[in-house]
Amino acid sequence: MIPKMEDLLSMVKTESKEDEDLIRKSYNFAEKAHAGQKRKSGEPYLIHSAYVAKILAELGLPPVVVATGLVHDVLEETKYTKKDLAESLGEEIANLAEKIVKLGDIRYQGNEKNIENLRKFFIYKTGDLRALVVRLADRLHNVETLEYVDKTKQKRIALETLEVYAHLANRLSLGQLKSRLEDASFKYAYPEEYQKIKKSLENKKDVSQEYLLETKVKLEQIIRESGIKNFTIDSRQKHLYSLWNKLNKYDLTINNIFDIIAIRVIVETIEDCYKVLGLIHGQWRPMMNRIRDYIASPKSNGYQSIHTIIYTDSGGIIEIQIRTLEMHNRAENGIAAHFAYKEKGGAEKSLSKNIEWSHQLHELNLSKNYRENFSHKIELDFFRDRVFVFTPKGDIIDLPLGSSVIDFAYAIHTRIGDHALSGVVNGKNSSLNTILKTNDVVEIKTNKNGKPSPKWLEYAKTNLAKKHINNYLKDNSLLEKYTSFGI
Ligand code: MN
Repeated sequence: MIPKMEDLLSMVKTESKEDEDLIRKSYNFAEKAHAGQKRKSGEPYLIHSAYVAKILAELGLPPVVVATGLVHDVLEETKYTKKDLAESLGEEIANLAEKIVKLGDIRYQGNEKNIENLRKFFIYKTGDLRALVVRLADRLHNVETLEYVDKTKQKRIALETLEVYAHLANRLSLGQLKSRLEDASFKYAYPEEYQKIKKSLENKKDVSQEYLLETKVKLEQIIRESGIKNFTIDSRQKHLYSLWNKLNKYDLTINNIFDIIAIRVIVETIEDCYKVLGLIHGQWRPMMNRIRDYIASPKSNGYQSIHTIIYTDSGGIIEIQIRTLEMHNRAENGIAAHFAYKEKGGAEKSLSKNIEWSHQLHELNLSKNYRENFSHKIELDFFRDRVFVFTPKGDIIDLPLGSSVIDFAYAIHTRIGDHALSGVVNGKNSSLNTILKTNDVVEIKTNKNGKPSPKWLEYAKTNLAKKHINNYLKDNSLLEKYTSFGI
């Protein structure tokens, strides 16, 4: 079923008659331009354009982005030109549509190609985040309709989506889009594993539902009694792909994974988050080493929340996440929050660090080069204060600017960090204090008797590396001798 124009209009946050007209005109343009064209499913091509627009609307993106979604394939797939688009829908959409073509497909064909294309992408200096988000939505609809594509292509596209597109969505704090991309690709990329995990989840479902219900009811009661106002509680089953990832990563079975079901409490203030945590721990016994405070120390993409795992009254285990509404919106849809901010001119304080620096970069660009209509333009290099380095196998490691070989070692694995001896950067032997640049291919040489040295703290840049080095030194009481390092 093709999403109708009226459906889209009801989903997009339009603020004026012009906004609505833009959606209508773009819808009609797409319908006319793709007339007679068919998707592999045999359906009219318009179904794809309208679905991409729908995904963008669901993400809460502004009308101009949704409108661009409608015509994103016009330049590549039809006889209409950029000039035609500009005349009917305005320069902004025409420019965006052209950028989407330029951005191209970020292809994945085995590791080597993957690296090459990602490099190209990262080097892509004038990326417009809006073009990128449309590309991600485009990909989501393409994987959701993979059943119509031939088998060999299916797997390649699914893998590429997992390795490249979902990763990018995560970088942009588009948590919702990332999960959708992953779950849609999972069954094509790893069919057997997908079926297996789906089945074992179904077997566990009744039991977990029981735990969930009893806990939810009780939790709602104790929060209400505490006097906290304006809170919501919802629950969800963990996404299949992230569950599978977790099982793999920690070598677990479905029976000892704790957070198949998570309850999420959303409150108004940070203070309330900690209050709720206290209430929960007063009611149920928490799993002590599983409390994560990402409010005090956010994840590298800006994610904030408190996670705790508790034993329920009837012996089940459930994860509870606590966050403010603002943190929630940012985690689910960081970029849209940013666009909303740009459009309304709200408080800068409310932006996550990640989004904040991209905003600063934007301002910088603005003062230097650009003079035109900025309130709607985000021209920036999202990746500028990060370095992206590669393992010999082609995995990307994302580090803050100024990171050295030892940061890379800890980013791979604590054990590799703890026993690091030296590095090999682009085939050259390099010491642990070598500063890394984007595109470096890095390998770590370890020595099983090697151990962290206080000197490492002088050039470790990431909190992760510092934390592990400090922990080791503390455990081995090497720390007090080196207080001059300012730790
Ligand atoms: Mn498309």
